[in-house]
Amino acid sequence: MVSLLAGKAAGANMTEIKLHNTLTNQLETLAPQKPDEVKIYTCGPTVYAYAHIGNFRTFMFQDVLRRFLRSQRLRLLHVMNVTDVDDRIIQNAAGAGVSIREYTEKYIQAFLEDMRALNLEQPEVLARATEHIEDMVALIERLQKKGLTYSSDGSIYFRIAKYPAYGKLSKIDMGGIQAGARVDVDRYEKDDARDFALWKAPKPGEHFWESRIGPGRPGWHIECSAMAMKYLGDTLDIHAGGVDLAFPHHENEIAQSEGATSRPFAKVWLHSEHLLIEGQKMSKSLGNFYTLRDLFARGLKPSTVRFLLLSVPYRRQLNFTEDGLLQAQNSVERLRNFVARLKTSNLPTGSDEKNAARIAKAEADFEAALADDLNTAVALAAIFDLVRDANTAMDRGEFKQQDAMRAVSAMEKFDLILAVIADDDEAKLRKLGFGKAEERLAAEQVEALIEQRKTAKAARDFKRADAIRKQLTDSGILLEDAKDGSVRWKYK
Ligand SMILES: [Zn+2]
Repeated sequence: MVSLLAGKAAGANMTEIKLHNTLTNQLETLAPQKPDEVKIYTCGPTVYAYAHIGNFRTFMFQDVLRRFLRSQRLRLLHVMNVTDVDDRIIQNAAGAGVSIREYTEKYIQAFLEDMRALNLEQPEVLARATEHIEDMVALIERLQKKGLTYSSDGSIYFRIAKYPAYGKLSKIDMGGIQAGARVDVDRYEKDDARDFALWKAPKPGEHFWESRIGPGRPGWHIECSAMAMKYLGDTLDIHAGGVDLAFPHHENEIAQSEGATSRPFAKVWLHSEHLLIEGQKMSKSLGNFYTLRDLFARGLKPSTVRFLLLSVPYRRQLNFTEDGLLQAQNSVERLRNFVARLKTSNLPTGSDEKNAARIAKAEADFEAALADDLNTAVALAAIFDLVRDANTAMDRGEFKQQDAMRAVSAMEKFDLILAVIADDDEAKLRKLGFGKAEERLAAEQVEALIEQRKTAKAARDFKRADAIRKQLTDSGILLEDAKDGSVRWKYK
């Protein structure tokens, strides 16, 4: 077996990473082609509107994947496409009287802002479809040479009858799809209902590209095959996306890529399950359709949304509920309070073997859970068990200074993947135009006032001490005087 972690320092513990491959329907040990680099392709947004939280469920799972692989000292080469040309974009841009570029730019920027708000890492390559038309034309030409295509009314189609492996990802029985059934939604003439467009002839007044294969524009599927192979080569280590893309989109990607290269397109296919809203499918007609900005406008914090989206393992349906949001917010608070307590408590000097072992166990459990097909639920349980035990030990005076340092370092390690502990929610919301308008006290101002209050107390000037407490409370600061004389604070 090829070791995944050849890239890890010699002698370091080897963690086997298991992922559920849709292609084989099995948990498999990840074995990238280059031992220390993972080539990943994920299907990105179609930028005709703001992305919704169902989209972000998928992007969140991919972020956990990225962050976990990086924590295992693997280098990533991750490509994500941006679909900036399709029927809706062409129509909406024409309707608004602007170019495709102008129309999509706003939503591309919004998507990047949304990613930053949720602490989603940027892929190494973000590839816009309209900047890769030549690559798509070249790939279509290769398919033409292999006899896998036909033309009709200026459009070019993939002939599925010539590609017997079709259906191996989604295990769909194509025999059941009759001529005339609508598989791929478009308005073009095809020989067979199963076939899909590689290149679409322009309709009157529509935007099109001149090319060696005639005027027109690319189909959606060819975009992913062409851009994935351009940056990652014929074979990717991982291709990931939402489960709704498995058929026909990913199936078509396989047909196009393997049809052209006769080599495997992706070794591992990962698919995340749907997001439900209060148990129902999200849809505009049900009035439960949310973009990220809709949630922020309702006063939700980015860290709350991030925590809820990552808390459910990607292969389980995620039910997005008011209760779940409240729990997520409390969980984030609990983590932040724990780290603040570790950093500000006056603990006895020294360390305790028991605590060191407890922290090491949490770290090992966390890593093992994520190595087990990114089981975030078990990984989070490992953290919260540690938080509970360490808090109890601190209450009893059994947690020492070096234990706290170890625990802080463990929490920092966990947060490389969770990315919710730093309290920058308000700054992020303000950047997006939400949140409180008034400036709050800077952390240094708060610290300075707390010092002044301490001095006043020490001088038994309780009137002054109370006045400072009131000033802080009025400015939205929560103060907590610990038994040991230390003071913890946070923004309300
Ligand atoms: Zn795709």
